[in-house]
Amino acid sequence: MPDVTQERRCNAHIRALLAGTSEGLIAIAPDRTVRVMNERAAEILEVDRQATVKREIDGDAFPGLVVAIETALHDRQAATWVMERGGLDYTCIVSPYADGDEHAAVITIRDDSEIMRIRRRQEAVLSSTGDGLLIFDTTGRITFMNPAAERMLGKGAESVVGRMDEPWSLFGLGPEGDLRDTGSQLREVRMEEPEHRIVDVRLDPVLDDTGSYMGAVMTIRDVTSEREATQMKNEFVSTVSHELRTPLTSIKGYIDLILDGEAGEINEIQHEFLSIVKENSDRLVELINDMLDISRIESGRIVLKVQPLDLAERIDGAVNTFRAVLDQQGRKINVELPDDLPKAAGDPDRIGQVLINFISNAIKYSPAGGDVDVRAFGVDEAVRVAITDHGIGIAPEDQARLFTKFYRVDSSLTREIGGTGLGLSICKSIIELLGGRVGVESEPDAGSTFWFELPLASAQLVRTPSLEGPLGTPGGRILVVDNSEDVANLIATYLSRRGYEVVKAFSAEEAWRSAIDFEPRVITLDVMLDEGAGFDLLQKLKADEKTRDIPVVVLSIICDEGKSHRMGATGYLEKPVDKTRLLGVIDDLVGSVASPVVLVVDDDKAIVELLSRTLKQRGYAVMAAYDGKEAMAAITQRKPHAILLDLRMPVMDGYEVLQALKTDEATADIPVVIMSAYHFDRERADVLSLAAEQICKPFDADEFVSRIESVLHDGVSQ
Ligand code: ADP
Repeated sequence: MPDVTQERRCNAHIRALLAGTSEGLIAIAPDRTVRVMNERAAEILEVDRQATVKREIDGDAFPGLVVAIETALHDRQAATWVMERGGLDYTCIVSPYADGDEHAAVITIRDDSEIMRIRRRQEAVLSSTGDGLLIFDTTGRITFMNPAAERMLGKGAESVVGRMDEPWSLFGLGPEGDLRDTGSQLREVRMEEPEHRIVDVRLDPVLDDTGSYMGAVMTIRDVTSEREATQMKNEFVSTVSHELRTPLTSIKGYIDLILDGEAGEINEIQHEFLSIVKENSDRLVELINDMLDISRIESGRIVLKVQPLDLAERIDGAVNTFRAVLDQQGRKINVELPDDLPKAAGDPDRIGQVLINFISNAIKYSPAGGDVDVRAFGVDEAVRVAITDHGIGIAPEDQARLFTKFYRVDSSLTREIGGTGLGLSICKSIIELLGGRVGVESEPDAGSTFWFELPLASAQLVRTPSLEGPLGTPGGRILVVDNSEDVANLIATYLSRRGYEVVKAFSAEEAWRSAIDFEPRVITLDVMLDEGAGFDLLQKLKADEKTRDIPVVVLSIICDEGKSHRMGATGYLEKPVDKTRLLGVIDDLVGSVASPVVLVVDDDKAIVELLSRTLKQRGYAVMAAYDGKEAMAAITQRKPHAILLDLRMPVMDGYEVLQALKTDEATADIPVVIMSAYHFDRERADVLSLAAEQICKPFDADEFVSRIESVLHDGVSQ
């Protein structure tokens, strides 16, 4: 009888298990009757155990449980029913199992009050946050949505929870890739439904403590008022700065004229006093420019013209601005550049601005003197420029904050030196917008090295050569359009002293009539004319056959360079107008209208320089390109009357350029003069025959010009 003993012992174990467990347990037979029920189950359900066994569960008392049993037996998978009793929360799990050919089930009843309490508290916390919150499970199903999210999306949780959607589709956006690969995703969304809102939406993967993916959480932050306040502030800064610029244009301009002796001789004291006025008005202009730069950067309206950069040239230019000041102080700037410095990609003017800022700081913050070193070198996929001084240095705790707006190190020395704390923050934004980075290494009282890095220029990036007018006194009629009489008079004075004949107009209507009647060579136009009528005028000028070809230079206090160019402006200058820049732009444009344009293409800069100068002296306008690609870019910008083309060049050689030009109808008629230091390659005679003339290097300048002239003459008479 060992079997019986063993079975009895086994039963005793099972009874002990049933009696001892804290969970309620019920076994349901295939005929739905209760086969076994432990004491705990009877206690939770508040039923008499003896009276319940062998009967079905009372459907009136426990309707949910009966449904769960039916579901489990029917679907052959576990079903859950949640029950509240005596202030406690229970979870009943009905798990089916095979009993011979039929199906029976086991019910486990568990007291989940503690877990539910924690969960309710968590949900209460999530529900009361001001940010919208949505939780997704591993399959992408939405499992939770808080009231803030309901409000922001204008949808009730009941219509969203349980839905299986790509998370971003809630905002009508396409997916951003698999969250598991991308990590957090962040987007700014402008919503118009249920109301206008700007929201920052973050989607973060949720990982458990072993790092496996458990789903995602989306947070929606309403930033409408912040963004609108920033925008209002930017607009305010912009408007105020612009309003300041108009009077400053006159102040600065007329002081310059007096100091240049244009208003008669002035004595030494007058000169000294006026120089002080000039210095301070320059500072004011600088400050306004900084504020405008900041508002332009923050509102995303900054226009960057990215092209392959010759950093050596930029550094030279920046360093030269400080030479005179440093010579006076007996200090030096040492420039160290490798010959094979790779070309970086950047906006030349903006990089010049950054260099000037760094160098001027290096000088400014080393009051005891000392040299300044400027170095450039390649690092990984970038070019780094570093400016080192031996000045006051910066403590480590200040270094991290230097590049933030308005931050200045607080010391008596910096206070004495003066400044706004805007420069470095502008530099950082510019460099970062160009895809680079900035940094500083410094030691107090020993000096600082400020550096920036720019990405290398890709092969696709091509510089577009600019057009330069002929040397000598230019002439011709210029129409100056400005609604401020003072400013118009100032510009007119600059231009007429340069030898131009000036016609002024103060309204769009007047300007239009003058453009027709006087046929000016160039028009300068302030687009702020009569509340924006300037842009309408520009459009009208560019649309009419009679005026279409007159180049228009926009002079503006509003920073809309992009718009001006899109609408057909040839040049753009910001007010207050810099006299030298204005005259440079006008001379070049007049030259290009009044004189034949020659494109010079050679990779030898010295030759390009020599040829350009000779041509400009003889009254030609010149575009200078250093390789074939630049030449092609120049031609699309402006069709030249003749091309001087070197054959051996990197990137795209002369043969290729010649072939490309002659196979394109638009450029086939431009006469090309080829030049080479080598014998012309007979094997490529077919290509060479496309050229109008061939010149061998070295050549005599006079002979060379007469060849060009004959080519141009032939071109004109054809
Ligand atoms: P500003 O010079 O007008 O104050 P910047 O933004 O150019 O504004 O510089 C911010 C601050 O960084 C300066 O006020 C100064 O405290 C510190 N700083 C910048 N360049 C240097 C430098 N070369 N040496 C020491 N301190 C510097």
